[in-house]
Amino acid sequence: MSRSEMPQVKRVTLENVSKAYGSFKAVKDVSLAIEPGEFVTLLGPSGSGKTSTLMMVAGFESPSSGAIKVDGVDVVRRAPKDRNFGIVFQGYALFPHLSARQNVEFPLRMRGVEKSRRRSMALEMLEKVGLAGLEERRPRELSGGQQQRVALARALVFQPDALLLDEPLGALDKSMRERMQYEIKSLQRKLGISVLFVTHDQEEAMTMSDRIAVMNHGQIVQIGTPRELYASPRTPFVASFFGETNLLSCVADTAGSGAVKVTLASGFSFPAASDVERAQLSRHPETFVSIRPEKISVLAADERAEIMVDAVVREVAFLGKFVRVCTVASGVEITSIIGNAPERISRLAEGAAIRLGWSREDAKVLGVDVEPGDMQVAGSGRETHDMSVQLREAV
Ligand code: ADP
Ligand code: MG
Repeated sequence: MSRSEMPQVKRVTLENVSKAYGSFKAVKDVSLAIEPGEFVTLLGPSGSGKTSTLMMVAGFESPSSGAIKVDGVDVVRRAPKDRNFGIVFQGYALFPHLSARQNVEFPLRMRGVEKSRRRSMALEMLEKVGLAGLEERRPRELSGGQQQRVALARALVFQPDALLLDEPLGALDKSMRERMQYEIKSLQRKLGISVLFVTHDQEEAMTMSDRIAVMNHGQIVQIGTPRELYASPRTPFVASFFGETNLLSCVADTAGSGAVKVTLASGFSFPAASDVERAQLSRHPETFVSIRPEKISVLAADERAEIMVDAVVREVAFLGKFVRVCTVASGVEITSIIGNAPERISRLAEGAAIRLGWSREDAKVLGVDVEPGDMQVAGSGRETHDMSVQLREAV
């Protein structure tokens, strides 16, 4: 691609965007910026408002309030085709009677691009997504993964300002999914295009994203890099959404200026870290502390750690490289995942008395999760957006 053919890289922002369907608030006060060239993912369970949010960015739904801006210009009143976003949805079918090439040419035809140029742009884009040689096939003559590549080519061929993807890999099997994750990501890097991606799959979000916005009950509960969300979750929902963790019910004591002190029901107390504002913690002292299993060591007799607690082994599972040790310590279940070194694991029989240890930094005191609140409980996961018709307008 020559310089002039590179997609323009734009900053897309959502400012306090809300969406109500009747009295039901599906999206509440969502603010988010997708920086030029950034890959941002909306991650959340079914019904959390991801599709509604994406539909508002695409222009198929209008926000009840709030602004959606491209490089600072509000686009809320623009029709989907005037927003210049490339769109790929799981249910976004290709035109069955058109070849792969004709499908990819379609948005160019809509934009009045002249025939021979249209053709060469489509062929070039099909090559980029790995479909050279299959240009004249109809969708039904292509595999699921290949069809999704055509959809991707169709979304990219007109040099959109940003790419919007809603669970685009949902219909693919695991190995094809992983391959497409990799390919979408490398294509995105190569083109330098801004992406807003939607998935309910935590691993997929971690693999692909620069930043992830975790959604629950229509709200963004935390935004961060995959690493930040894993290491410093701010609520139990985020902590348990990303990987395995020990969530221990506790009371947080924020008095004093040092570390937050947490006390478990048994009375066992220890200092912990927190990324939650102290004021919030002091308003809601009954909370949870999260400690990742791999941060908890099984201490040898002569070893020490910042925080130590006696425990009794309940169950040991050999996972190969790692061993999962389930214990009861101070009245609560605590799971540790340790390496498989024989001298470490030989004494870990059921019923054995051991000592667990962790660092203050690795125990994170969490804030409260958002509640459905004034949202009515709607059938979660109900697929209410009839996209098939509207979406044609966008390509
Ligand atoms: P997600 O994509 O995260 O699964 P959606 O944005 O599709 O979530 O839906 C969020 C909530 O809004 C769900 O409870 C859903 O049932 C509801 N919803 C979505 N679209 C409509 C609609 N057109 N009318 C009424 N409720 C809707
Ligand atoms: Mg959805």
